[in-house]
This record gives sequence, C-alpha cells and structure tokens, in this order.
Amino acid sequence: MQVLEIERDLLFQTYRRLRIYVKYGEGVYLVDFDGRRYLDMIAGIGVNALGYGNDRVKRAILDQVEKYIHLSNLFVQEPQLELADLLLKISGYKKVFFTNSGTEAIETAIKLTRKWGKKFGKNEIVAFSNSFHGRTMGALSLMDKIKYRDGYEPFLPEIYIAKYNDVEDIEKKVNHRTAGVFLEFVQGEGGIIPADERFVQKIFELREKFNFLVVADEIQSGLWRTGTFFAFEHYGVKPDVVALAKPLGGGLPLGAVLGNERVADVFTLGTHGSTFGGNPVACSAGCAVIKEIQNGIIDNVKEIGNYLRERLLKLKDKHGEIVKNIRGIGLMIGVELSTECFNIVDRLIEKGVIVNCTSNNVIRLLPPLIIEKEHVDLFIEKFDEVLNEIKQQSLRS
Ligand SMILES: *Cc1c(COP(=O)(O)O)cnc(C)c1O
Repeated sequence: MQVLEIERDLLFQTYRRLRIYVKYGEGVYLVDFDGRRYLDMIAGIGVNALGYGNDRVKRAILDQVEKYIHLSNLFVQEPQLELADLLLKISGYKKVFFTNSGTEAIETAIKLTRKWGKKFGKNEIVAFSNSFHGRTMGALSLMDKIKYRDGYEPFLPEIYIAKYNDVEDIEKKVNHRTAGVFLEFVQGEGGIIPADERFVQKIFELREKFNFLVVADEIQSGLWRTGTFFAFEHYGVKPDVVALAKPLGGGLPLGAVLGNERVADVFTLGTHGSTFGGNPVACSAGCAVIKEIQNGIIDNVKEIGNYLRERLLKLKDKHGEIVKNIRGIGLMIGVELSTECFNIVDRLIEKGVIVNCTSNNVIRLLPPLIIEKEHVDLFIEKFDEVLNEIKQQSLRS
C-alpha cells in the first residue's frame, strides 16, 4: 500500500497503521478506495458510538459551525451549558470541566485531587497495575506498563501502584496521606478486565476510613458502553470524580471531568484552564450523541451485548484450545486467546471484519452501540472461519 510508505516519510512513527485506506464510513461499515466494505467492530477505538454518518450529530455540528466555531473560554458558550446540564442531570454530579481529550481529563483529575488533598495535608495518589490512563506525563505516572513508560522517567512523585483486583494490596497502599485512588472499573487497553466486586467494595470501605477521593476513569467504559451510563453503576458505588472522553464529542475531540459536592469548589478562578477545552462544535456534537443514545439505543446495548456474549461463549466451547475466556460488560468485550492475536486480526480484516488486538492476546470488541444481530452473526461467522483455518494449519504442521 503506497500511502503507508508516504506516511512513513511524513509522520513520527508512533502508530502501527492498518492496511486499509478508508474512503468513507456508513453506519457500522467502513469502505476503502477499492470499494471493499469492512464491518467495524472497534469503532474508532470506542469513539464512534453511533457508527458513521449519524444525521443528528452531523446536523448539530453544521448548525454550530454556522454560529461560531470557537470563541475561547473568555465567553460563556451555549453548547457547553447544554452539554454540562445533560451530563449533570444524567449522572447526578455537581460540576463539569471540559477538556480536549481523555489524557487531559485525567491530568485535570490529578490536579483536582492534589488541590483537594492539600486542604487535608494529603498528597499521595494510588493507581493500579495494568491500567491505561493516557499519554501525558501525569497519566503515565498513574501506570506501570513498561511499554508506555519506558524512557520518559522521571514521573510524578507520591504516586503508588497497587495490584488491580488485589484486595490485600490496596489495603497496604492506602493510608491517611492518600488523596485519591484512580480506577478503571473495566480496564480497556489492559485487556477488558472488569474489577472484582469485592475489590471495589474494599476501595470504598477504605475511602470511608481514610477520607480520600475515588476517581473513575470512564473514558472507554462510559456513555452507556456497558449498558449503563457509567460502568461503575454495575457495582452500586459512586466515585467522587469521573473522567469521560472517547465517544463524548461524537468524533470531535472532547473530554470532561465530573465532580461531586466534595470537590465542587476546589478549582477557583484561574487555577485551571484549556484554550480548546469545551469547544462549542464538539459540545454540540456531544449533546446530539447523548440524546441519540437515549433515544432507544441503551436497550440495544444490553440486548446485543448479551447476544454477542452468548455467541462468543458458544465459539469458546467449539474452539476451547484457542479461545480461553470471554470478558466484559455490554458492548465492551474482550476475547482472551491462548496465542498472540495479531495474526487472527489480520485474517479477520482480510475477510472484511475490523477488530483490535490489545495486551497481545486479547481481541477487543468496541462496536458501535447501534450494531444489530445480523452484524454480530457476520462477525461470528468470519471469526469461526478464521479459528477453523488456524486449527487446520496447526494440525498439518
Ligand atoms: C483512551 C483512554 C485514555 C486516553 O484518552 P486520550 O483521548 O487518548 O488521551 C485514558 N483512559 C482510558 C481508560 C482510555 O481508554
């Protein structure tokens, strides 16, 4: 593919690109310049919750472009107010800060945590092994994977990593100096790993005892990806601070930090900011995304999520030697394999289905929330074919 060579000459080589040159998207499909159609089961890494070409989102963007594209945060902007109101009404939180990205939302949450903690003489933050919070130095400071951190040392001080889903380790790592605990209720990049019920309960018990903030990273799992607005709702708990991003801007760059009454007054005039944060076009798209999902799509997530899981479990019964485990909630699903998954991903793409490989051996599925049964059937059919081919190959060799 010639464009790959051109890209290599032009851009810093940070991304491994797929060998698909996309011309346009349509619903749950992408179409390349040769007219080949691909079922998109990763949806812009969880961004394109409504697939491609949603009319309501397009209309919201165009309408706002006609009014103004940017004013700066010197001004009160109608789309920010509308989106903040929607987010707070749905979630029950007290305040919003808008950012441009997930990692900037995490950065904001770190600053909020430190400033809140200062009042109580606390500055320690605890985060978890195998997590992903983004690529800024602050986000990297919350992570332990060499792959993301190597070469960027030194990181922020007073941050401690506890073992994810380990009830004893979190007990050892938090104390009266802990200002906040950062947590993905379902680890995304880490391989679609939901937190254990007991582990979450322990964190909230410790929060009572030591008076720290719980900060939920819902950047990948939020906005009904798991069937509820936040993944933490499955655990019956309420974190103090939540970071959102990925699907929030309908494909435009937008993140948000939501906070409860404990943190509502921490940021004061001039203590935090962002030139592009809360861009009005992105916020208008965000309002459209939320209204559209509320308009019948939430039930679809639950129904199709269950259906996809059932069909995958049957595939696991059939191909138990390769498919080790099916994990996740709603339409955030990981298929853990006993081998590396890059080869399987390539073969699926040849058959017209785009999936993603994360943590080396987990096939990650984050399909558009509008996906239907027929698309699940197509994906399962192709996945079954690939698994059969691999089985036959290993028998021959
Ligand atoms: C994608 C992601 C981030 C980072 O978001 P960016 O917009 O890429 O900065 C942070 N946390 C989680 C859980 C994510 O999935």
